[in-house]
Amino acid sequence: MAKNWVIGFPRIGEQRELKKALESYWAEKSRFGEVEKTSKILKQRHWQYQQDAGIDYISCNDFSLYDNMLDMSVSLGAIPSRFQDIENEHELYFAMARGSKKAAAMSMTKWLNTNYHYIVPELSIKDKYKLNIKKIKDEYLEAREFGIKPKINLIGIITYIALSKAIDFEDKFQIFDKILPIYEELLQEISKFDKEVIVQFDEPYFAKDCTSKELSLLKIAYDRLSSVSKHIKIAVVTYFEHSSEAALVLVNTGIWAIGLDFVYGAKNINVLPEIAKNNKVLIAGVIDGRNIWISDIEKKVSLLNEISSQINKDRLIVSTSCSLLHVPFTLKYEDKLDNEIKSWIAFAVEKIGELNLVSNLFFNGMNALNDEDKKQLAANKRALHFRKVSKKIHNEEVKTRIGTINTSNRKLPYSERIKIQKKVLNLPVLPTTTIGSFPQTPELRKARREYKNGDISKEFYEKEIKNYIDECIEFQESIGLDVLVHGEPERNDMVEYFGEMLDGFAFSKNGWVQSYGSRCVKPPLIFGDVSRPIAMTVEWIKYAKSKTKQIVKGMLTGPVTILNWSFVRDDQPKEVTSMQIALSIADEINDLQNAGVKIIQVDEAAFKEGYPLRNENIKSYEKWAVESFKISTSVAKNKTQIHTHMCYSDFNDIIQTIEAMDADVITIETSRSGNRLLKVFKEIGYKKEIGPGVYDIHSPRIPSVDEIKEQIVKLLEVLPKEQLWINPDCGLKTRKWDEVKPSLKNMVEAVKSNR
Ligand code: GLN
Ligand code: ZN
Repeated sequence: MAKNWVIGFPRIGEQRELKKALESYWAEKSRFGEVEKTSKILKQRHWQYQQDAGIDYISCNDFSLYDNMLDMSVSLGAIPSRFQDIENEHELYFAMARGSKKAAAMSMTKWLNTNYHYIVPELSIKDKYKLNIKKIKDEYLEAREFGIKPKINLIGIITYIALSKAIDFEDKFQIFDKILPIYEELLQEISKFDKEVIVQFDEPYFAKDCTSKELSLLKIAYDRLSSVSKHIKIAVVTYFEHSSEAALVLVNTGIWAIGLDFVYGAKNINVLPEIAKNNKVLIAGVIDGRNIWISDIEKKVSLLNEISSQINKDRLIVSTSCSLLHVPFTLKYEDKLDNEIKSWIAFAVEKIGELNLVSNLFFNGMNALNDEDKKQLAANKRALHFRKVSKKIHNEEVKTRIGTINTSNRKLPYSERIKIQKKVLNLPVLPTTTIGSFPQTPELRKARREYKNGDISKEFYEKEIKNYIDECIEFQESIGLDVLVHGEPERNDMVEYFGEMLDGFAFSKNGWVQSYGSRCVKPPLIFGDVSRPIAMTVEWIKYAKSKTKQIVKGMLTGPVTILNWSFVRDDQPKEVTSMQIALSIADEINDLQNAGVKIIQVDEAAFKEGYPLRNENIKSYEKWAVESFKISTSVAKNKTQIHTHMCYSDFNDIIQTIEAMDADVITIETSRSGNRLLKVFKEIGYKKEIGPGVYDIHSPRIPSVDEIKEQIVKLLEVLPKEQLWINPDCGLKTRKWDEVKPSLKNMVEAVKSNR
């Protein structure tokens, strides 16, 4: 007896086959039949992987052509009215996801605290919901035909509603009574599939702090759903944090099993007595589904032993902490990764192997292991040991340096240093600038690729970059921008570029993780102590400076963003890694100012993303995140002006924290959210300078002079002119030159006439 469970499996394919099939179909280079063919192959291959690894509970309906929340909307018939006249089902589905000629796409947002983005359901009180079981049934039958009896993955009703957008009513949960019957009908239909069907409802919403109303609805929902049919066994799973409040409610419903995360939710251990008392099955998430390090197999078994001191073994199932969607697929293609580092890593395929080993060892003991298992266990121990002592990871110099940080404050307070800066910089009122990057042209990408592959020489590559910088500077001068940038042509990505130059970072070749739809990201792997062997940006900025008399701004990515967009070490606290990166950035800032760079921007695009799910953990995150930023920037001399940029507009609840970062200027994304946000800055009496984006760079549209003028007038109603900068709302790298040129020209013109 050994029972193990995988919450969900990545679906994009080990070679991103689904991405390729979808994009080719969208580009009208192939028919939908090709997408279907690829999907079928992938589903079967993914089931096969899990079957081969000895997994007992394998999912269906964890596959999706775009997103599982979107699939749920389709299944519930929650189709926003603007799409309702589209008859073809695939056309409809992709129109909802990506927009059509007639209707804008549904919006997209981050799935809890992950980097995966789901399609936000749009709920209308006027809509009629109607079950559409097709996809769920098809996938179930497909799995049966393949030869497994899968569990069916569905988004739980509370999470579905809580993470949706109510478009024409106040309280989202007003819709609950309309949607619950559809869920009941859905289970009714599923009960006809087989004599016994397991349904997994994902309710990760309860990893957050929830209200008593949400908990009472949870009770109603699962009381009702568990009484639909005796042929159905319901498992409700949560993840990413503890969800003890929900667990205590769920034990008193008729559901069969509760899934809890023991990797990111240590507090879940407290609810075990109640689970035991109510005879519920516990699906214990012990294999990390969010990070990429190998498990300590023996430690996992001890944890399970601890759990089983309270829960009877025959009521225990061993599981991944969450869906494996959040980690890359397989190490199989990583032939360039250092072998030692590779031995410390497990992607999804390796993780299901670990899951099987852990559950086998836990349920059946050492004697049940075959030779293969024993080898795997020995290799695991060896790798863990070497990881602890490896010189690749541990750098004494870095560790000592962390211990000797004595201040993270700038020398003078803002009110005094800004006076010095104003003198040095001598800028006009409403100074104009950009956020850093200029269009990444196909030629630029080609040059970078050829250089990486060794097809062109370093000299040749650098000449290309310099030519780009020349043009970039020339253009900015020609339209009369005040603070220029070099354009970031040397950067593929704002995190990868720095990671590649820092010690302690590794890069996979194929470690793609789905971000949304067909899009994937390949996060760097921070495996060791971080340090900066050589300057990373100084030569480029110096070169740009030499081409103009205007001020050129130095451009860096901040420590918190580098951290939040990477896979981080699990063998030391995150904040330690963050401080190490911060010191490397500090070194770079120092080199830049010594090279005569007067303004340095430290981007923290992902500062907000790192916020913990539970309020109780926010303070400690804010503390080390702010501290990291300050460690980076406190080396700046009083006369060096520090800018930061944040890619969002949702500052209401973190404004004090933003202020505590103590940057001299912050540029933010406001163009799409109007000036509501700025009022917040005004209300708390924010004294430092702000550059609220005056136009939206996410759209190809070119804003007119008048439009920007009007926007500036509105800004001036909220903030005094002494505090304002004028800039677009984000970097321009995704735009085309013929969009960027007229837009910036209009921006400068608008400012000139306002002045
Ligand atoms: N400096 C970066 C750029 O302009 C900032 C991008 C970002 O914050 N996402 O591209
Ligand atoms: Zn941005």
